Order: sequence, then C-alpha cells, then structure tokens
Amino acid sequence: MQWRKHSAELADQCEAGDADVQVQFGKKEEGHRQALRTPRSLEDRCNRILRNMEASLTARDRVGIQDFVLLDPYTSESAFLDNLRKRFHENLIYTYIGTLLVSVNPYKDLGIYSKKQMDTYMGVNFFELPPHIYALADNVFRTMLSEFNNHFILISGESGAGKTEASKKILQFYAVSCPSTSLLNNVGDRLLLSNPVLEAFGNAKTLKNDNSSRFGKYMDIQFDYRGEAVGGHILSYLLEKSRVVHQNHGERNFHIFYQLVEGGEEDLLRWLGLERNCKNYRYLVQGDCAKVSSINDKSDWKTVRKALAVIDFSESDTEHLFAIIASVLHLGNLKFEADARGYATVKNYQELHWVSKLLGIPNQVLQQGLTHRKIEAKTEEVLSPFSVEHAVYARDALAKAIYGRTFNWLVNKINESLANQDSSRKMVIGLLDIYGFEVFSVNSFEQFCINYCNEKLQQLFIQLTLKSEQEEYELEGIEDEECLRPGEATDLTFLEKMEEKIGGHPHFVTHKLADKNTRKTLERGDFRLLHYAGEVTYCVVGFLDKNNDLLYRSGKEVMQHSKNAIIKHCFPSSEPDSKKRPETVVTQFKSSLVGLTEILMSKEPWYVRCIKPNEAKQPAKFDDVLVRHQIKYLGLMEHLRVRRAGFAYRRRYEVFLQRYKALCPDTWPNWKGTPEEGVRCLIKHLGYKTDEYKFGRTKIFIRHPRTLFATEDAFQVC
Ligand code: ADP
Ligand code: MG
Repeated sequence: MQWRKHSAELADQCEAGDADVQVQFGKKEEGHRQALRTPRSLEDRCNRILRNMEASLTARDRVGIQDFVLLDPYTSESAFLDNLRKRFHENLIYTYIGTLLVSVNPYKDLGIYSKKQMDTYMGVNFFELPPHIYALADNVFRTMLSEFNNHFILISGESGAGKTEASKKILQFYAVSCPSTSLLNNVGDRLLLSNPVLEAFGNAKTLKNDNSSRFGKYMDIQFDYRGEAVGGHILSYLLEKSRVVHQNHGERNFHIFYQLVEGGEEDLLRWLGLERNCKNYRYLVQGDCAKVSSINDKSDWKTVRKALAVIDFSESDTEHLFAIIASVLHLGNLKFEADARGYATVKNYQELHWVSKLLGIPNQVLQQGLTHRKIEAKTEEVLSPFSVEHAVYARDALAKAIYGRTFNWLVNKINESLANQDSSRKMVIGLLDIYGFEVFSVNSFEQFCINYCNEKLQQLFIQLTLKSEQEEYELEGIEDEECLRPGEATDLTFLEKMEEKIGGHPHFVTHKLADKNTRKTLERGDFRLLHYAGEVTYCVVGFLDKNNDLLYRSGKEVMQHSKNAIIKHCFPSSEPDSKKRPETVVTQFKSSLVGLTEILMSKEPWYVRCIKPNEAKQPAKFDDVLVRHQIKYLGLMEHLRVRRAGFAYRRRYEVFLQRYKALCPDTWPNWKGTPEEGVRCLIKHLGYKTDEYKFGRTKIFIRHPRTLFATEDAFQVC
C-alpha cells in the first residue's frame, strides 16, 4: 500500500508540474551515472566487502548468513530453513544464493524502500551491502549496460508470496534511478502509474491475497545505450474473467468495481445510474465481503483517476471506460422471467435501459440480443428464443466478454502511452510477474490454467539453470480439443477422455483410476494432478464451459451496434463469426506461453524467489512446514548445489572479449579468430589461474567475483 501512496504523490506532483520532482529525477540520473563513470578502486570495494562480511559474521548467530553459498558446513534443508527463519525474525527478508534473491514476505512495512536506500544500492556489487532487491535491480541494470544485451527477471512463488510487490520495487528503482531526459514526457512516471491502473482492473481479493493478480504480466522496460529508460511494453496473460460474474465465499470481484461505487464522484455515479452501495449489485456480493480492512477503495479510486490522466487517457476514453464498468454492474442485476411459452423476457427494464444508455445500443436491439439466439437455417437466419436459464448464461457470457476485451484494450492503450517512437537499438530488462501456484479447497479451471503456467515456468527455470537435473513435467493430452462444444461433450465425458488418454501417467489420478485408499479422497467428478509444487485436486464441473468461453453470435452482434468507442473497438464487425471453430481458452493460453518462453529464452535470466511465511497473512509468523515445502518445490537446494560448485560468474565469450580486449595487445583492436580463442588468449595474458575459470560452450565461467573485479578495474584504468 506504501506504493500506492507513492504513486498518488507522484501523480499529484506530475499534474502540478512540480519542479522538485524534476530536480529530484535529475539528481538520480546523476547518481547512477556517477557510479558508472567513477567506479571505486578494487581496494575500496574489497574493504567494503570485508566490512560487510565482518559485520554479518559477528552477528551471524543472531541474523544468519546473507548468502546461502557461504553457509557452512554442508547445507542441509534444515540448515537452510534455520537461516531463513533467523533472518526473518530479524526483519532481514532477503538472502542470496549467489545472484539469485530469496525473499520472504514480511507482511509489514519494513521501511527499507526509501529513496535513500535506492541511492545506497546504486553502483554497488552484491557483497558490499546486505542483500536487497535494489542490489539485484542495480546489478541487472549495470550488466545490461556493460554487455549491451537483454535481460529478464523471473519472479516466482505461490499466491501471496510477494511477487507483485517485488516487481513494483524493481520498477520503482528503475523509474526513479534511470529517468528519461525528456522530463515532460517522463517514461518513468508512466511505467509506475500503469501499475495502479492495471491492478485496479486485473487484481482482486482472494482467500490467499487481498491484492491477488488475476492475470499474468510480462513487462519490458526499454533503455537506450546511456541507460535512460525510454519506453516500455506490457504483455498480459489470461485474465480470470469468470470472476466478473462469480466470486467464491470470502473473495471479491476486480477492485475497480468497488473503487467506482465507493469512490466515484456524485455526479459521475448519477450519470452512470449507480448507487453508492456495493450490496445493491449482484456481481459484487457473491463472496459476501465487499469491504476489506486492508483495502481503501476510496483513495485507490483517486489514485487510479490521476494515473489515467498521466498515462494519456482522454476525458472521453475515461468516460467510456467507466460507462463499461457500470454497464457490467447493471447487466449483473438484469433479471429474466418466463413468458407464457416458457421463453425468457426481461423482468426489470430499468437495468436494461441503463445498459442500453451506457453502451449506446438501442433498447430493442439489446433486449433481443439478450433473449434470443441467431441460428442458421438453410437459406436464412432465424431467431430462437432462450429459456430463462439460457438467457442468464448468455448475459453472464456477455458481461465476461465485455470486461475481458476492455481489459485487453486497456493494456494496449497503456502500451501506446509507453511506446518509444525512436527506432534506435534498445536494451530491455523484462519483468515477469505471473500468478503464483494456488490450491484452494475447491479448484476449478482457473487454478488448472494458473498451475499449468507455473509448471511451464518451472520447466523453463530448470532448463536455464539446472539442466542436468531436468525432469519431465509434461501434462500431455490435457488440452484435448475434443472437449470443444457444449452438447457434444460434457464435463464427465471430458474426464473419461482424459482417463483414456493419460490414465497411465503417474502424476494423474481420478476416482476410477485410484487405489482403494486414494479413492476415498476423490469425488467422481474430480481429477488429481501431481504438480511440481504439490498435489492438486480439480473439480471438473464447469471445465468445458470455461474452456469454450462461448459468446453467442447474437451477443457479439449486439455489441457491434454500440456507440461506446471502446466497445466498438473491442467488438469489430470484421470479427469472424462462430461458424469457424473458435480456439479454446487452453489452446490460446498454451500458445501465448510458448511465445513467452521464446521471449525469455532470448534474454539473460535473473531470479527472485518469493516465499510465503504463513497462511494467515500475518507479520512475524514463520511456519516451518509451509516454508520447507516452498524451499523444496522452488528448487532452492538444487540451485544452491549448483552455485556451491562454484563458477557463479559467467559471461558470453563475445561479450567478455569485446569488453576486455583492450587489456591484451594480441586481442586489441580486433581479434581475428573465434571469440572463445580470443578469450583464452586474453586470460592467459591476464594471468588467470587455471582453477579460477572454466570454459563452457558459449561462456567463460569465473569462480570468484574478485577475479572479475580485478579485470574490470584494470579495464577502467586503461
Ligand atoms: P503475490 O503477487 O505473490 O501474490 P503480493 O506481492 O501481492 O503477492 O503480496 C501480498 C501482500 O503481502 C501485499 O499486498 C503486501 O501486503 C504484503 N507484502 C508483500 N511483499 C512485501 C514487502 N516486501 N514488504 C511488505 N509487505 C509485503
Ligand atoms: Mg501478484
């Protein structure tokens, strides 16, 4: 929540054209440049490392060790756990495993994210100061600048472990320390302020997290060759649309609905036909917790309003956007009753009238679209009336489609505001904050997709870091296309199909396949998967429906009549109709994850592993069993083993040679052979000892940072 205050202040200051902000940013820039221009001497740095090490060793018994690689003797899982616990109770939430950062959610404000802290960590190497997320952010930034290549930071951990907060801290660090020179058009502010907007529309209170991200987010921050932030781009993944029409007990709809109803200005609410009472809206009360003590909808509304203005939303965009949000609430209140023939008719015209007004769709057209379906007869189209049950289904499908497409529009609009027109070469740091692994007492299609995504990312992590220990986690066959259409299959026949296809897989079990003991714990409509992070039982009810995400053609056509500019854009008349088989949700999701993997594979990886200390969202509570489980499935022990084997510092041959070739007469100015041979020649000249380095396929691996520091210092001097 501290972030929200910060962004609100920023927005205030930006609006007022506050000179202080500009001066402040100017200073920051100087700070970073300063650090880059005049690196401290080797002696200076070694002294600082020694001081830091000494301080942490003296307090070791109390505060533990700040890098697991230094944990002696051989690290057992229990020693690892002890170290994390010790540090957690001293409010030291960060610990390294080499360059990987482990972060334990403190569930309280530690006061460690001030501008002063940012300054302290600028231009500093890992061992010079206690671990911090800023140290990681700064090291990624400086590596990018010195190697001229692209990086990404993968932030993982289960729901509520602190991923989104970590990604915000990193973004704040870059936005503040690497501003663009064009202060009127500050990319840093836009990057920062895109966050509260996306969170308002894409986050919600769940049982695991009061501010849970219900979409996956990958954000590129673009830098020019001087290290100035010049642009950004966001990719969003699979928003949990079903939340718009249904929430489980103890959960809420997306924040924006409550913000509007609680915080919306009087005349705005009047214009939207809304009352200031969440209880009046069916789509807001199913979880029975419209009010949450940790959330201030009123002030969050103000932040969102200001942020929208800074990221270039015109008055008319904003009006259309709020009209859509309100229309979804009115749709949710729309009731149907059966006429004499048993067909659905609208019961409360008042709500229909509001939807029609807000979306700019004629009453008649809207009414017909909500109560009838168009079907193709031989030569003509005929209207087939809905039953009440069908009409309710079509209404909810429409509400989900409107919200989902508006969310995509919002992301595109933010991207326009972050886009950089200049075509010169840029370097990027990508931030991946994707929904974490989650297990509820009842798990449905949404958890299945979220956990599948986590499974894929875990696989990628293993591929990139621990290749030799790779295991197959493929859940093949589950994205079976045969489950496409309602009527042609049911949830239960889908389950049978899965039993047929992957029944032999050791990580899959159903009631039918289970042994006697396991069977007792499985209902007939359940299937259970053994994920890398643990076992999850999924209830198959609703799977097909959610996967098909069917929006009747008539619903789509109705939207094409809309005069609301955003809706017009989201439902183009050129959209192929339902005759063509639409892609299922899982198929789409799967291919977007393949795209994501490709993006990530082309960049240098860095990791933040977030750990949730307890299920109660409380400070100072460290649940050993829970944390031990996370240490296991986050692969932290394996990672440690790889790191302890040494050679933690690696550079591609081309990069290493390019940077240091001036240090050797044979490689300067141009080396004619392969980069690897060049590096061999170079390090021979520099006098590296044979146990200090190893040659990999594409990279040189260096055991100690001091070796690299010494080379870097020689380079700075020359
Ligand atoms: P995730 O994205 O992993 O689901 P969040 O980042 O949303 O989890 O964190 C959940 C909550 O935990 C936050 O709303 C905040 O209250 C608290 N939290 C997380 N990280 C920190 C931190 N570094 N300092 C203080 N509180 C934190
Ligand atoms: Mg999150």
